Amino acid sequence: ARAQAMEVTASPEVTYDDIGGLEEQIVEVREAVEEPLINAEQFVDVGVEPPSGVLLHGPPGTGKTMLAKAVANQTDATFIKMAGSELVQKFIGEGARLVRDLFELASEREPAVIFIDEIDAIAAKRTESKTSGDAEVQRTMMQLLSEMDGFEDRGEIRIIAATNRFDMLDRAILRPGRFDRLIEVPHPDWDGRKKILEIHTQEMTIHDDVDMAMLAGETEGFSGAELASLATEAGMFAIRDERTAVRMADFEDALEKVREEDDTAGTPIA
Ligand code: ATP
Repeated sequence: ARAQAMEVTASPEVTYDDIGGLEEQIVEVREAVEEPLINAEQFVDVGVEPPSGVLLHGPPGTGKTMLAKAVANQTDATFIKMAGSELVQKFIGEGARLVRDLFELASEREPAVIFIDEIDAIAAKRTESKTSGDAEVQRTMMQLLSEMDGFEDRGEIRIIAATNRFDMLDRAILRPGRFDRLIEVPHPDWDGRKKILEIHTQEMTIHDDVDMAMLAGETEGFSGAELASLATEAGMFAIRDERTAVRMADFEDALEKVREEDDTAGTPIA
């Protein structure tokens, strides 16, 4: 069961250079996660407790997983990912057991970064979700918090959680000693969108007529994931047309296609 539910990577390929925008978020993540991993002893000497857990929150596809992977890459740490929804199990004690397995694996493979995506699945306010009223889900969350409490002896394990539903979270998990460092990961602004488009087209043959600045202007409200698929779609249009260079027209066609597929794309979130 352990192998199925967790994604384990010795050292992920993603680096900070692969992330467009999010300059401030990168600084914050490095400070909260990377420093304590690299300079564990210094933290002990100075007598400062590093943040226990870092919570990344923001809309889907904005680079939260990438940030967690890049920290693991930078620190040569094992990256262990688990989705909160996988921790919601049918049988009593099973979710808590998975949490124990998760931390056990991390201590076997330290330095390690544990990444729990969709933390809201086990940490929603009772009023917000059917499952969180469930005693079993509560127990799973308690197990997670208690594993985090044992952190003093675990200098080389850091925990990062992510959610698209910050409003739904039970505030109890944000208390000091828990997920006490919050980092918002929003949709990219114009500069971020331009950078993300550049990153995702750097391996492509791009015709001179492609205006990335203009595309950045036309993609307000797009997530990084949507910009990545825009670049891929543009490439597909060029291939269909049997051209090697991707032209501005391909991007415009792709823009139309991405907008049709997801009509929330291009609509700024209120
Ligand atoms: P979710 O909440 O849906 O899990 P997420 O915020 O974790 O999403 P990622 O998995 O990090 O999003 O991003 C998905 C893909 O979108 C990435 O693999 C990458 O191709 C692209 N992407 C997203 N954000 C960025 C970014 N800031 N810079 C470059 N690429 C990005």
